[in-house]
Amino acid sequence: MILVLKPGAPREQVDELIGRIKTMGLDVHISVGVDTTIIGLVGDTTKLDRLVFSSYDIVQNVLKVTEPFKKANRMFHPDDTIIEIGGRKIGEGHFVIIAGPCSVESEEQIVGIARELKNIGATFLRGGAYKPRTSPYSFQGLGLEGLELLKIARAETGLPIVSEIMSTDVLDRFVEDVDIIQVGARNMQNFVLLRELGRIRKPILLKRGLSATLEEWLMSAEYILSEGNDKVILCERGIRTFETYTRNTLDLSAVPAIKKLSHLPVIVDPSHGTGKSWMVGTMSKAALVAGADGVIIEVHNNPKCALSDGDQSITPSDYAAIFPKIKQLAEIEWKRLEV
Ligand code: PEP
Ligand code: MN
Repeated sequence: MILVLKPGAPREQVDELIGRIKTMGLDVHISVGVDTTIIGLVGDTTKLDRLVFSSYDIVQNVLKVTEPFKKANRMFHPDDTIIEIGGRKIGEGHFVIIAGPCSVESEEQIVGIARELKNIGATFLRGGAYKPRTSPYSFQGLGLEGLELLKIARAETGLPIVSEIMSTDVLDRFVEDVDIIQVGARNMQNFVLLRELGRIRKPILLKRGLSATLEEWLMSAEYILSEGNDKVILCERGIRTFETYTRNTLDLSAVPAIKKLSHLPVIVDPSHGTGKSWMVGTMSKAALVAGADGVIIEVHNNPKCALSDGDQSITPSDYAAIFPKIKQLAEIEWKRLEV
């Protein structure tokens, strides 16, 4: 349930109303917009009578929120959320490019790619240190050493870093070292991990699960938000369908759908979404036009020898060819490219 307040509602009366809501065992989420202030009621409101609140003078409207996600819901927060990381903005009117290899493999590899990306133009550097691989015999990532190498690449280029966390054991290190903590598709419903990430204040990049509906994905975001971390960025990375030509089916319609349902920024991963390096440029452009707030692209200096996801990785020179097209499209779509 949300309460839309009348413009200029006196502070004391608002506080009194909030106090009343809290005595009912509910939590409040307040969103102060340009024209209106909204109080969102968080908790079990199923038995609440809306008349209880419409009798308050300062309440203009009482609306039922039928979706199970509350803090992620656009009704709770009509304006788009904009998240700022190291002076770069993610969210409405801004477009970010996160680029880098699937896995951090060596200092030479990650620093080399980071330098090339910085020269061409990128917002953030990605690189997996902990890799969720289908086979236990595949390369599992360099672990903490990988994080150290990412830090070297960040120091060399100034690009903030994005890396995937798989378990809470290393949470302190991620909080210390990483600028955006990625939750991979396979952990989208690891609720213990999500709750812990809700208790920190770092931005979280939450990928859509392999077969997750939009509602399940937003409920996972809700786990993080409900604990107090409001810096959640969603990432559409393709879903499992009957089609096998592409690695996954990139659901670009998820972008406008999420924008309607939620205020959270949403980016697109055309690399995992297609599994094919030659589709990455086209689908990045499509993502931008579909309304995404950014893309995350796998770039490797030698994709044939990559320790993971070589087939979907583009080279720095492919990236250099795609970049100006994204830049031009961003201008057409009135988005500021954050590089
Ligand atoms: C990745 O970003 O390398 C990755 C493993 O992504 P996803 O969780 O989307 O498969
Ligand atoms: Mn990958």
